[in-house]
Amino acid sequence: KLYNQVQDLKGNIRVYCRVRPFLSGQPNRTSAVGDIDERTITILTPSKSGKEGKKLFTFNKVFGPASSQEEVFADTQPLIRSVLDGYNVCIFAYGQTGSGKTHTMTGPAELTKESVGVNYRALSDLFLISEQRKNTCSYDISNGFNVPNANLVPVTSTSDVIYLMNLGHKNRAASSTSMNDRSSRSHSCLTVHVQGKDLTCGTVLRGCMHLVDLAGSERVDKSEVVGDRLKEAQHINKSLSALGDVIFSLAQKHPHVPYRNSKLTQLLQDSLGGQAKTLMFVHISPQPDAVGETISTLKFAERVS
Ligand code: ADP
Ligand code: MG
Repeated sequence: KLYNQVQDLKGNIRVYCRVRPFLSGQPNRTSAVGDIDERTITILTPSKSGKEGKKLFTFNKVFGPASSQEEVFADTQPLIRSVLDGYNVCIFAYGQTGSGKTHTMTGPAELTKESVGVNYRALSDLFLISEQRKNTCSYDISNGFNVPNANLVPVTSTSDVIYLMNLGHKNRAASSTSMNDRSSRSHSCLTVHVQGKDLTCGTVLRGCMHLVDLAGSERVDKSEVVGDRLKEAQHINKSLSALGDVIFSLAQKHPHVPYRNSKLTQLLQDSLGGQAKTLMFVHISPQPDAVGETISTLKFAERVS
């Protein structure tokens, strides 16, 4: 309740920034990330004269490279409760390929109880809370993929959903993790529908939750890709910027929200804006050679927050 009131005061869009750590095997050079606190992050930008520049960005929350999956989820959890209260919720992971989107949403290739990401934790919370409320509410939870013609699969426990998610995760983990990775060239969306009935007053509640691991946001070098690859890249960039435009319009309370500019925003229209709640995780890499993409990612994020 309190969270909902706070949300209403601040609007329904939150942006969290997460910095991934250097990976073992990566040359451990100086990080492009400077000071981090609860809400701000400083990026160190090299300049031609050799003098370092600094850019400060502010978000609802910043998670440094040492943050755990559990800490990240602790600030996500209130949204899960909202779904059971009848709100629509969208959680996005945005960032260039390799910045940690899948790590946040699903987890690393080898999943453990500690390393599982937002998807698993959100799903198990949905079932846990619905169980806790069973004396006052009866819930019906179904899982569906947000693509045309996809069937809704009724699910009764986290393990059903984990089974479905594992299928998807295995397929993705099997492919390479290079910049050409298929998974980085498509959006992956897990949708859960919740229908509930308040047994004390008969009110019917309908909420849904979309968990979206977006395609990599990196710009493509037109001199390097041609033909279908170029078309695909341009299509992705178009849908990400359309998403940015929609969230920006909502944040600015513009009377016209341009949902129709991409398939992604059309599909999520009912869950973006109005009473719906949106959380965008923006991911960045600490690597100095990624600083150009990092700055453009953070600019995108600051515009929508
Ligand atoms: P993306 O989905 O954005 O392309 P990944 O989530 O696949 O990026 O992350 C790239 C690599 O970095 C993976 O090996 C992943 O496990 C690792 N990684 C990402 N974020 C973290 C983190 N917060 N802590 C530890 N390892 C991470
Ligand atoms: Mg990924």
